[in-house]
Amino acid sequence: MEPIEICSKQCKSKCCKSTPPALTKSDFERINKLHENKNWFNNIDQGENKTIVIAKREDSNNCYFLSEEGLCAIYSSRPLDCKLFPLFFKINKINKSEYNLRWLVWYCPLTDAKSLDVLKEEAKTKIEIILSEDPDQLFEYQNAMYASQGYKKKHFLYEERLKIKKSGE
Ligand code: SF4
Ligand code: SF4
Repeated sequence: MEPIEICSKQCKSKCCKSTPPALTKSDFERINKLHENKNWFNNIDQGENKTIVIAKREDSNNCYFLSEEGLCAIYSSRPLDCKLFPLFFKINKINKSEYNLRWLVWYCPLTDAKSLDVLKEEAKTKIEIILSEDPDQLFEYQNAMYASQGYKKKHFLYEERLKIKKSGE
């Protein structure tokens, strides 16, 4: 089964019906350009940790962008939080080109369908691209995740720490 079928048919898009995705600045700007209706997001203010998350549907716990067929209506523009799921990470800058990453994997049916190594390699590739193009977005992602309620509640299946170099350095 392809990952998209696992998500929509087997799992029935559980992650899109739970904690609202937290947004980085560029996530917000990209999605906001697509929507004149401003009901699609909510602000979360927890002291220093301020962030914006995608709103829930008025009549359910579903993400604002989850269609009745269980598909994402903004798939190609979805937030980094959704692109990386079921992986999360914490990042610290060591110097100009090196970062310490702590991988955390949240259990979901995709972790059964693909091996953890495959998921990690996919996420590592995405992160290396962002590090070379827009490293600030990774720190924004981390801050957004800290500010989202769900991040604190999650239980993780797997954890690994590694050092990553910005490509081309
Ligand atoms: S990413 Fe995981 S939890 Fe989310 S819809 Fe797919 S299988 Fe379900
Ligand atoms: S933006 Fe798309 S992928 Fe992310 S939670 Fe909403 S429906 Fe799911």
